[in-house]
Amino acid sequence: MSTTPSFPAATILGYPRIGPQRELKKALEAYWAGSLDEAGLESAAAQLQDRTVESLANLGLDAADSSIPADFALYDQVLDTTAALGALPARFADLAAEDGSVGTAAYFTLARGDGQRPPLELTKWFDTNYHYLVPEIGPGTPFAAAVHRLSGIIRRQRERGAVLRPVLVGPVTYLLLAKAEDGAPAGFDPLSRIDDAVAAYAGILAELAAAGADWVQLDEPGLVTDRGGELAAPGGLVERAYRTLADTAGRPALLVSTGYGTAGDPAQPGQALAVLAAAGVEAVHADLVRGARPAAGALQALGGTRLVAGVVDGRNVWRNDLLASLDVLEQLREAGAAVSVATSTSLLHVPHDVAAETALPGHLPAWLAFADQKVAETVVLARGLAEGRPAVAAELQEAEAALRHRARFDGVVVPQVRTRTDALTEDAFTRGPAERRAEVQQQRLGLPVLPTTTIGSFPQTGEVRRARAAVRNGSISQAEYEQFLRDEITRVVRLQEDLGLDVLVHGEPERNDMVQYFAENFDGFAATENGWVQSYGSRCTRPSILWGDVSRPQAFTVPWISFAQSLTDRPLKGMLTGPVTILAWSFVRDDQPLGETANQVALALRDEIADLEAAGTAIVQVDEPALRELLPLRAADQQAYLDWSVRAFRLATSGAAEQTQIHTHLCYSEFGEVISAIDGLDADVTSIEAARSRLEVVADLAGFGYSRGIGPGVYDIHSPRVPSEQEVAGLIETALASIPARQLWINPDCGLKTRAYAETVESLRNLVAAARTARETV
Ligand code: GLN
Ligand code: ZN
Repeated sequence: MSTTPSFPAATILGYPRIGPQRELKKALEAYWAGSLDEAGLESAAAQLQDRTVESLANLGLDAADSSIPADFALYDQVLDTTAALGALPARFADLAAEDGSVGTAAYFTLARGDGQRPPLELTKWFDTNYHYLVPEIGPGTPFAAAVHRLSGIIRRQRERGAVLRPVLVGPVTYLLLAKAEDGAPAGFDPLSRIDDAVAAYAGILAELAAAGADWVQLDEPGLVTDRGGELAAPGGLVERAYRTLADTAGRPALLVSTGYGTAGDPAQPGQALAVLAAAGVEAVHADLVRGARPAAGALQALGGTRLVAGVVDGRNVWRNDLLASLDVLEQLREAGAAVSVATSTSLLHVPHDVAAETALPGHLPAWLAFADQKVAETVVLARGLAEGRPAVAAELQEAEAALRHRARFDGVVVPQVRTRTDALTEDAFTRGPAERRAEVQQQRLGLPVLPTTTIGSFPQTGEVRRARAAVRNGSISQAEYEQFLRDEITRVVRLQEDLGLDVLVHGEPERNDMVQYFAENFDGFAATENGWVQSYGSRCTRPSILWGDVSRPQAFTVPWISFAQSLTDRPLKGMLTGPVTILAWSFVRDDQPLGETANQVALALRDEIADLEAAGTAIVQVDEPALRELLPLRAADQQAYLDWSVRAFRLATSGAAEQTQIHTHLCYSEFGEVISAIDGLDADVTSIEAARSRLEVVADLAGFGYSRGIGPGVYDIHSPRVPSEQEVAGLIETALASIPARQLWINPDCGLKTRAYAETVESLRNLVAAARTARETV
């Protein structure tokens, strides 16, 4: 580099890509359905890019000085990086264009498969609810500079007068997130390809410079995981890789970001940033919300490298404490750093705009900052840092008033809720011995060996969704809607009786979403109208906002469960979502430890369980599909998390009488570090996703000494495929090879809400038949 363009004073690491009206989602789905061609998709995407640039400029990010990130993935930013590198696994090698690049059709084949080939695997992005497509890297995977789409965007924006900052996943994180391609030699580590990848990145940097980029952002959140310490140590792989990139002739200036925690060795905060600076990177970003503040020595070691301080939370929706953030920024500057202001992560994890909400409770909007408000916060902080506090006095005052209002607002601290949590003693977290529970439960339930059940939801047909929309827009009355639900429940109960299932469910037709439904029935929560957040591809979720002390004003699942139970002599499960999952899939207050909030949610659920029991319910299932999702990235932090999360589940369920059977359901099959936590939940029966992994988990649990009921999914509900009776029988046999028959339950992998009736009925018929046959042999 000859002269380094200066880094902007304020920036964000990324912005929601889906569009304020979910424009990109609609365009993608139209393209996949064949009603929009490739040119139409590109033009919808370009329009959204232009609007994003314009609106970010209006919010105060200068469109001409690289403060706006070009982060416009059509599906996923990791997939974009795969495409930019032309890094196609052998099984997709035929998709490459002649010059090694990946065109639009090929891009979506990687994301969605093509009938013969399953897509790239989808997995969670760090400890968030965003999912990325896992690169598959082998010894022979090609790496090229094939960044044409992104450089086209940069060039087009440049013609419009905007100098954007292209964003890619950095080489170290890209390879850390990759898995070894099938057929790679045992023990192959994708990171062993770092030199080849870096050579391709060097080419990419040159191409982006030629397209008109002054700065490029390489995201390296992989450095905040446990492997980061060794990789980012002085003289390590990170230093080597970035030195090579820094030596690239004619490249743009480099910003390396490290969101989601502390980069490198957490005992030496800032060291990883100093290593990047020493390698020749012009700007380094630190997450100062989740991560530690760099130590003084590390700040000094940055030299002329700019510190991009992520003080505005990219992952939650609360208004920034601007005064506290300014304190941090000023201290960093006093310690000698050249400071710019930024978000802690991309804003991908938050909705677009608080102003798009018209139905939030009146007190809430002033406490919140969605993406647009966060952009404005970074701009104000940068101005305050440059010009002094008086220059932003009005903004500081407004933020402070909102925080004060929030801290004192009725409902944020509810004395009755506090009295209850304060009075908790150890026995609120424990039930009687599991063997005795199993005995009294079996006396009550009289179930056959290998009992059959389902996970809760039945197909959410167009009819169910239409009825929900109709009651919302007033075209049917509440009474008509409830009658519709009773008819639906009746149908589902009859169907299960016909199929011969042993433990029934009501089918969950009244629930739009397994968390929002609870949020709507608990105090302390608010739901949004437009607060969509990308989960993967075109799929979005709308997390609720947990803003105050949580309690449950009245029983809400009981009427449906009692009605369903009144239709049948077989036991029917009460169905609840667990405390950890409710937290994981909501935006949660940031003013107290998560464990405390979890206990409040647990007590609200405990009240519902007590009412279900009083109404005669013999089995209650409490789903915790997200238990693993909140697991901290660093091993050293995991035990503390597992302690409070397991305790919250136990608090929710330990009020149940011994003859009430507690089930739980978990949506993943690789337990690893959470296996002891699953045992610690102390549920009487645990159902788990397992069909795709051929029930490996059963042996894992047995090996661990898990002795209660277990329902490994024997029917993979994630595809419309119908498993044959023989196939289910084979899985039952596999399970019985590692656990005694008295522990085994026979059920699908997960809820059936995304399935259609045709395949569901056939699959469940095969499942029941296989269980009945197996019963005769045990
Ligand atoms: N009871 C829920 C259902 O059946 C569980 C869903 C889940 O675990 N994701 O839909
Ligand atoms: Zn599930």
